[in-house]
Amino acid sequence: MPIYEYVCSDCGLKFELLRPFSDSSKKASCPRCQKNAERIISACASFSKNEAGEAIPLAGTGSSCSSCGPTSCNTCGL
Ligand SMILES: [Zn+2]
Repeated sequence: MPIYEYVCSDCGLKFELLRPFSDSSKKASCPRCQKNAERIISACASFSKNEAGEAIPLAGTGSSCSSCGPTSCNTCGL
């Protein structure tokens, strides 16, 4: 399952969810305040791909990506 990033429209908390692609456009609930959270369209989430093409989480890297901007990503190709 792909990892999606969301940001709470109320408290601004960012969090990630593993959910099926079919649910990717659905609203998520903030784990802190239970309000609606919007999905962040980001190619630079805190996961990478292994040789088999599977997404693997990178522990402790957060969602920052030093090699690309917020709307484009040379590394990820998206
Ligand atoms: Zn919240």
